Amino acid sequence: MKTKRSGSSFNSLNSERKLESLFLFTTGKCNAKCAMCFYANDMEKKAPDLSFGDIKKISETAGPFKRLWLSGGEPTLREDLPEIIEMFYRNNHITDINFPTNGIKTDRVVSWLQRLRRNCPDSNISISVSLDGFGKTHDTQRGVTSFYRAAETLKKIDDHFRDDGHVIKNIATVITKYNIEEIIDFVTWVYGRFNVSTHTIEAARGLTREAGVKVLTEKSLRDIQDTIAPFYPLYAKRIGAGMNAIGRGLTKFFYVGLMRTMYNIRAANLEKPSCWNMDCTAGETTLVIDYDGRFRSCELREPIGSVKDYDCDVQRILHGEAMKKEIEAIGHGYRANCWCTHGCWIMSSITFNPGKMIGMMIKSNREIKRLVRPVTVNEAVLRELEDKYRIDRDKLAAIGLIAVPADAVRAGVA
Ligand code: SF4
Ligand code: SF4
Repeated sequence: MKTKRSGSSFNSLNSERKLESLFLFTTGKCNAKCAMCFYANDMEKKAPDLSFGDIKKISETAGPFKRLWLSGGEPTLREDLPEIIEMFYRNNHITDINFPTNGIKTDRVVSWLQRLRRNCPDSNISISVSLDGFGKTHDTQRGVTSFYRAAETLKKIDDHFRDDGHVIKNIATVITKYNIEEIIDFVTWVYGRFNVSTHTIEAARGLTREAGVKVLTEKSLRDIQDTIAPFYPLYAKRIGAGMNAIGRGLTKFFYVGLMRTMYNIRAANLEKPSCWNMDCTAGETTLVIDYDGRFRSCELREPIGSVKDYDCDVQRILHGEAMKKEIEAIGHGYRANCWCTHGCWIMSSITFNPGKMIGMMIKSNREIKRLVRPVTVNEAVLRELEDKYRIDRDKLAAIGLIAVPADAVRAGVA
């Protein structure tokens, strides 16, 4: 890797609880119709997006913080998104940009990443492309034909940023009734066909657009998580490639530990609230701003005001009565008993509970050690899966994901 990743907020333990992460829903527009979308009702309201001027005031009053998490709607549908991100980079010195996308706007994703790398050189950009299953499964779950387009986006990101450690490539998959039967095969195929640093699996959350898509139970989620456990050390190995032995060891310890801890907490909370065994720091270290200006402490709690009532002044919001009451009501999760499955808040809270974190990491690493077994991901396995799920290999070849002719062995898959 030629360009190394900057120090991330996840690389340091924090104890001072102040704004660390701003979750900005940049637009209420989307070009997909996902069955498991938890934001469909909010987008249906078709309220206007916050203006650039409103977001400018938010940035100018927020002070320094580390992570900007984009959300939506589909972030790439907001035309002035690069300017917005660059503004936070200049004003707030953000070190981490989380950029989720459904991957439909391939060229825009790549050109915006190039621009952001030029204009925000010291920030890490985690680009997370949604891919929910093989071919038709993905398209059914997403409500639009976009499987090969999302795959092409991933390939082009890799072509342009393969050696750039500041661009962290991720695939996110939400488990629903549509893909649950194929999820293990899909995790295997994704690892073999895409050069990404992480593949996260998510449990559908909130009120979904389509009723009945949430079929996971705690047991079935734990079974899936245990079965895919061998892939965590493999991804850690990818991330640590090019580091010295100490760097590789630490990367493996923290990556495996964080993923397993997050998955354990998520599974425990799937059917009922179950204490995270650490404080949830929602509202203290995180602020969510919806596309229309409503704000919340976390994505799963109700809005408690509108930024417009505070002249978009983040300090007034963070120190205002509404937020104070909300933090009091949550009581770090213990008072509200609202323990949830939301990975972003679990991950964020882990870093603010350094005393608990190391113990969780050690336990999780031990669990993974017990679960790891050899997995075979070679060209024959990948092709078998592509046949089984009727993937069009000519299209994969056109994208560049497999060699042409299609039966040539793809280099680099072990
Ligand atoms: S989940 Fe994301 S991509 Fe899908 S409809 Fe909702 S906002 Fe759009
Ligand atoms: S536990 Fe979950 S729902 Fe409750 S405040 Fe924290 S992130 Fe929000």
